[in-house]
Amino acid sequence: MLQALYRGRGLSRADLSRELGLSRVTISDVVGDLIEEGLVLELGTRASSRPGKPATMLDINREGRNVIGLDLSSSHAFVGVVTDLDGAVVERAELGISEVQGEEAVVAVETLLTELVALAPLPVVGVGVGSPGIVDDQGVVLSAPNLGWQDVPLQARLAEVCGLPVAVANDANAAAVGELSFGEGQLDMMLVRIGRGVGSGLIIDGRIVSGARHSAGEIGHVVSGTDVSEPCVCGNNGCLERWLAIPRIDAHLAEPSADRDAVLTEAGRRLGMVLAPIVSALNLTEVVLAGPASHISGPLLASAQSTLRDRVLADAHGDVQLRMTELGHDLIVLGAVVLVLRGQLGVS
Ligand SMILES: [Zn+2]
Repeated sequence: MLQALYRGRGLSRADLSRELGLSRVTISDVVGDLIEEGLVLELGTRASSRPGKPATMLDINREGRNVIGLDLSSSHAFVGVVTDLDGAVVERAELGISEVQGEEAVVAVETLLTELVALAPLPVVGVGVGSPGIVDDQGVVLSAPNLGWQDVPLQARLAEVCGLPVAVANDANAAAVGELSFGEGQLDMMLVRIGRGVGSGLIIDGRIVSGARHSAGEIGHVVSGTDVSEPCVCGNNGCLERWLAIPRIDAHLAEPSADRDAVLTEAGRRLGMVLAPIVSALNLTEVVLAGPASHISGPLLASAQSTLRDRVLADAHGDVQLRMTELGHDLIVLGAVVLVLRGQLGVS
């Protein structure tokens, strides 16, 4: 019912009864409970052409609850927001973290969270967190080398600090659900984050795919060329990150003879090569890129689009869309908010 109201905007009890296939009595009972809890509001009546009592419009109480979202993916700061149920940001806070590692980094997250809880003007439904690294279903960060984390029970630690429901997920997975809910994302899509490394979140039929070892979407170290000599940090030669990670692109661009268009076109080509079998195997309708527009929009995007289309069966996958997100820097915090909306209220 909350989902119908969240997406429907302004439905009556009779509309809900029809849409959900439940009796008017059941609908009225549940709506009554939700109004009492403060989660649903009566908006007033709708003018009707039919005779009889005008219908009272309902809505989820979008501005009556807060959600907290945290993004731990940046190398220089942990970032957090307080939003309403529509994802509109009402407060922001961040904490500089250069060189912060291990337990000190966990304490930094706890400090930022405590600050955000104090900033929230309304009751908080829950806390969502997008963390780098491999995160299991219980919100344990199994491995996040940049933060020096191994088997950190972040979700449990944060829940203890704030006494609220907490959901911790991989940052790219959070970004993917953020795009799905707030960015016109489609139900079968992939969100590729291009930054210090390259990672992605996969959504199939509206759900995050986490995989057998919580590593679905880890595409940065897929070998996409054997024409390089120096090995990657992972030990292989010619990983996708070699061409696509932002520091690598910047290093290529800084070479004296660098041709900017050529460097970016080549990065896009390698990305398209890696995407083609994924799009084909899963019949995705959309791939969304997130990262600095200065690097990604332009030759990189155009080259990735043409490479992808050239490498898939046109009839089956030729209409796949490859585009940049429009959610900008807030993509991961908004995705973290969606984790809470989905988990606590069943809406997205
Ligand atoms: Zn590698």
